[in-house]
Amino acid sequence: MQTTPPPSKPRYASARWPWQRSLQSRIVLAYGGVFVIVLALLMARVVQVVYTAQLNDAEHNLEIESFLAANALEDPLSGYDVEFEEYARWESKQEDDDHKDKEKKKDKNKDDEDNKESVSRAASAPIAARLQAVANLYASDTGARVTILDPQGDAVADSAFAFAQVGSQLAQIEVQAALRGEEQHDIRPDPVTGNSTLYAAAPIQQNNRLLGVVQMSLPMADVTASIWSLTFSLVITAALALGVATALGVWISRRLVQPVRELEAASLAIAQGDLTRQVPAQAADELGALARAFNRMVGELQRMLEQQRLFVANASHELRTPITNIKLRSETLLDGGLHDSAIAERYLAEIDSEADRLGRLANALLDLSRLESADPSPPVESVDLVPVLLSVVRSMRMRVGEAGQTLRTELPNQLPPLRVWPEQIEAVVINLMDNAIKYTPEGGTIRLDAESDAAVCRIRVADSGLGIPAADLPHIFERFYRVDKARSRQTGKNGTGGAGLGLAIVAVLVERNSGRVWAESEIGQGTTITLEFPRDDA
Ligand code: ADP
Repeated sequence: MQTTPPPSKPRYASARWPWQRSLQSRIVLAYGGVFVIVLALLMARVVQVVYTAQLNDAEHNLEIESFLAANALEDPLSGYDVEFEEYARWESKQEDDDHKDKEKKKDKNKDDEDNKESVSRAASAPIAARLQAVANLYASDTGARVTILDPQGDAVADSAFAFAQVGSQLAQIEVQAALRGEEQHDIRPDPVTGNSTLYAAAPIQQNNRLLGVVQMSLPMADVTASIWSLTFSLVITAALALGVATALGVWISRRLVQPVRELEAASLAIAQGDLTRQVPAQAADELGALARAFNRMVGELQRMLEQQRLFVANASHELRTPITNIKLRSETLLDGGLHDSAIAERYLAEIDSEADRLGRLANALLDLSRLESADPSPPVESVDLVPVLLSVVRSMRMRVGEAGQTLRTELPNQLPPLRVWPEQIEAVVINLMDNAIKYTPEGGTIRLDAESDAAVCRIRVADSGLGIPAADLPHIFERFYRVDKARSRQTGKNGTGGAGLGLAIVAVLVERNSGRVWAESEIGQGTTITLEFPRDDA
């Protein structure tokens, strides 16, 4: 036994993260991500610019302050030079003593000597009290550490430490630059505190004689302190802005996603059979356009389903009638009607005719369904329809004669090329001629004409028959539409057997070949059906 395999599960794009399942979260995350990146870049740039400006400012200020201090010390009236000279004399004497001492104590441990040296130097150095006061004054004025050095780079006074604690500064970049009369600053770790420190220096000169150097320094932590507070307040502001932006993003994205959710809900309702469901479509944007297209699609679906329902109802009704007729007659025959040869012959003939009608109906229905599922693409090559029309005339001439009617044709030798399927146009013309014969009494005339102008080619099938009432004329191309049901069902040797499908098939075929079809009629005067196709060379 063969069973149908179970339908495979529909495959959806897998969502690895929870937020991948929500369009709203994705919008908020993308928006928030961009916001954070932009904000971080902006903040980094602001901090960098402010830091550079602040550092330049601090460097410049420190250089100026050291020059101002040096200027004050250069003043000959101040008497600071006396202290420098006193210090210089003491220092040269100290060097001589040191030299002698070292000769004496050659064998002693050298480290011990060095450690004790600064203490003994400090103890015996002349007190440069006024220079120390200047250093303290400038230090309290500027907030920087002020060190006053002698021309050899040794500290004479220092605002922060005992001057003897400060090693020789001669090799330092800013001191070297000051000795050359230039301005330069440096950033390096302070040898006493170990903290990164900004240094600047200025020479103290009197009558081209170098008295010493003013060195000023500022811990980098002081320079960058305001940067940290700026960064902190920027981060707080950015966090607040991010909070506001996220709330705004959630609100905007909810409004954006709302129509999509409504579409989803409506689609699910429609899938469950509620074809009356519509979505709000007032928005002027793309989502509004989508909603309007959706509503149109649902409307069209509703119309098609209604058509389908009508078609099935009509088709089953049309099929039921001949089946009932056959059933009634066959039952009568089985109930003894067979013994009456006259009745038997009549009923069998009627059964045969009803079976024919059933067959024709089934064929017409098949034709329609085939047409609907066929490839609607137009033909590649264009054709001249005159040979096609002549072939129809040949095949119909005998039937027209049998019906006691006259066939007149007015066909040119050649028609302009048309992009149509010839066999489909042939079926259309046969159908129209068949109707003309059916609905025209004996002695009437059937006409087949063709003509063309610059843009189109027209084919006309006209008769001098019964005509169609004006009220029915707009409906004759609808499926199962018949003007007079009793009248059209009787006849039909060739057509659709009066089920009201012939012209419906004609309409579909003409449309498939990019043409138009319409009918003009007058009761008692006759009917003209016109086909129009665009010229391929127009
Ligand atoms: P049917 O198979 O019943 O002829 P059609 O679709 O071919 O169905 O035609 C629809 C209806 O239009 C017919 O029932 C008939 O009443 C009317 N009709 C079509 N052609 C003509 C005609 N040439 N003259 C008068 N009535 C016509």
